[in-house]
Amino acid sequence: MNKQTIAINTPFVRPDVYGSLSVPIYTNVSFEFEDAQEMADAFCNRIKAPDYARIANPTVTNFEQRVKALTGAEHVTAFNSGMAAISTALLAVSAQGKNILTSRHLFGNTLALISGTLLRFGVKPRLKDLTNLEEVEASIDEQTCCVYLEIVTNPQMEVADLKAIAEIAHKKGVPVIADSTAIPFTEMSLKDLGVDVEVVSSTKYISGGGTSLGGLIIDYGSFPKINKYVKYDLLINLGVYMTPQSAYMQTLGLETLEVRYQRQAANALWLAEHLRNVQGITRVNYVGLPDNPYYELAQRQFGKTAGAMLTIDLESKEACFRFLNNLKLIHRATNLFDSRTLAIHPASTIFGLFPLRQLEQIDVRQTTIRLSVGLEAPEDLLADIEQALG
Ligand SMILES: *Cc1c(COP(=O)(O)O)cnc(C)c1O
Repeated sequence: MNKQTIAINTPFVRPDVYGSLSVPIYTNVSFEFEDAQEMADAFCNRIKAPDYARIANPTVTNFEQRVKALTGAEHVTAFNSGMAAISTALLAVSAQGKNILTSRHLFGNTLALISGTLLRFGVKPRLKDLTNLEEVEASIDEQTCCVYLEIVTNPQMEVADLKAIAEIAHKKGVPVIADSTAIPFTEMSLKDLGVDVEVVSSTKYISGGGTSLGGLIIDYGSFPKINKYVKYDLLINLGVYMTPQSAYMQTLGLETLEVRYQRQAANALWLAEHLRNVQGITRVNYVGLPDNPYYELAQRQFGKTAGAMLTIDLESKEACFRFLNNLKLIHRATNLFDSRTLAIHPASTIFGLFPLRQLEQIDVRQTTIRLSVGLEAPEDLLADIEQALG
């Protein structure tokens, strides 16, 4: 079946007694059992039945089942934020003395998690250039617990060769974990590119309209120990499961994901093409532009679309601030893939507390504005950008 059909029609694990057509929101904490044996079996995972809402919830399970049907994954687990999914995935593979091979170009909190939080527990960061395959090969050793990367880095918009990296990592028995937040899994198969575990901030494309926080670990089953730690250790012991209210909103988001995404990606491409001719903009960075250095690799890996995130560069930080202040339609806000178009100056916000020297090292420039392109008519967005620059 087509992805759009699957997203809408994945059935409940157990049919709802009233035949409710959209998934019911189970807000209860406990689930009652017929007898002591059934209760024991549920608690010891011999049968699939929810026992306590921190561990399992039918509304969340249905959301997970839909993602599983869409991705063909072996295991899908939903979390209360993207960072909860990312930290859980990294904790599942790491241990004291291990190292994580990753890029300097990472989402701000992931960078802080890997180079700060996990370091305190003896897990060492290896921040390398993952677009350089020789460097990747040379940086994996006996203690490397995973290669971790983002499929399109933000805000540098860099794309690494997943298939080549997976080949190198697998030769050494190391799993590849990829953050696929930038382009939804309805558009491509990261499994086919060799990714072992996908992590996603479902806060972004999936929630649709910025309604709720959420995260996913999508596990293709090639390293069975990872799911064991995720589902039967970390999820429960850290208490990071998705709430049923969020699962409900994100299920609705999932049903319209493909159509929303197609429109947003088309808007982003249209806007990127037109912004190149606008005075005051010195650079447009979007991997969907044919002369972008990552264009062909991105098309090969992710299909015809390239996401709805792009950056523009202006003359100076002051010009960026003036531009943001002059916007009338586009919102000054952080989030990605909201229905509304959002603009932010990453260097002074997301990376605002990083030392200036480190910003240079990770290529976050003072002249860059990040745009997350929404569902508006693109002509209206262009007009707003032109007036804000004028
Ligand atoms: C937003 C984001 C995250 C974190 O997700 P939250 O849901 O905000 O915790 C992680 N990775 C990327 C690429 C993101 O854009």
